[in-house]
Amino acid sequence: SMASPALLMRVVASAYSVAEKAATIVRNVMSAGDLGQDEKAGPNDLQTKADRLVQMSICASLARKFPKVTIIGEEELPTDDVTEDLIEDGHCEEILKKPCPAQYTGIKEEELVIWVDPLDGTKEYTEGLLDHVTVLIGIAYGGKAIAGVINQPYYNYEAGANAVLGRTIWGVLGMGAFGFQLTEAPAGKHIVVTTRSHSSALVNECIAALNPDHVIRVGGAGNKIIQLIEGKASAYVFASPGCKKWDTCAPEAILHAVGGKITDIRGNSFQYNKEVKHMNSAGVLATLRNYDYYASRIPNTVKESLVP
Ligand code: AMP
Ligand code: MG
Ligand code: MG
Repeated sequence: SMASPALLMRVVASAYSVAEKAATIVRNVMSAGDLGQDEKAGPNDLQTKADRLVQMSICASLARKFPKVTIIGEEELPTDDVTEDLIEDGHCEEILKKPCPAQYTGIKEEELVIWVDPLDGTKEYTEGLLDHVTVLIGIAYGGKAIAGVINQPYYNYEAGANAVLGRTIWGVLGMGAFGFQLTEAPAGKHIVVTTRSHSSALVNECIAALNPDHVIRVGGAGNKIIQLIEGKASAYVFASPGCKKWDTCAPEAILHAVGGKITDIRGNSFQYNKEVKHMNSAGVLATLRNYDYYASRIPNTVKESLVP
């Protein structure tokens, strides 16, 4: 008889379905027309009804199935009295059928940390830049991002009424990433993708030092990693604090699963154990290929301005 699937694969299979439910909530809140917008730290740090409902949906759904896993979500909200309509108990059968990479078969619930960004790109969501939005569920073990799910609720929204709206990308280290077509950026071109709503003098100084052929300014950490793996951009460069562990965990797992690399601006890798500081204070540098080209051109003055 078949052995029961490894915990990691059961968590990823559930996270896939939980992220699809999240995407439905994101679309429903928008079509209902009342975003219930609040400011957190200021006008560029927003929370909507969708951020709140999705946070409760993801965290409560995963906690119910995997009670000993540590789950850290962006929004500070209770998960005890979540209404049943927000609970997703399904899973993706196709993921469950895949073999778990050998190094992860013995993982126990209490060894996993799940980092949840219920809605990445909230500012853009409120401005109608809907394809910038993603739902991020990152899975960490031993301080490393080892698996992740990125749902893009409005993928294809400008492609017309017949196009299928939304998609789910997932990946596991040692297995690969699925739900998209891996594409190389144009050879010999340096295309930098960066923030559109959290720029600063240092962010711009760093990009200028790289002398890129083109700069793409879009919202969301999840969205920017998608730009890398689909060949739209060759480097994600953000020389600023602001990004948090829930922004980078799922994107990191998927990027690393396809051979890319993400670090802070100084070249330090991120840690995802439950005690870690949430803020990525020294920014983000990520590429699918040619990481060293970009890392070697970040000015020392920029590195020294960012304290990890
Ligand atoms: P961005 O590239 O500006 O969309 O940022 C990627 C992620 O980091 C999003 O979740 C942002 O909300 C977050 N972020 C980046 N900079 C800041 C900031 N200065 N204040 C609050 N959140 C930020
Ligand atoms: Mg975010
Ligand atoms: Mg968010």
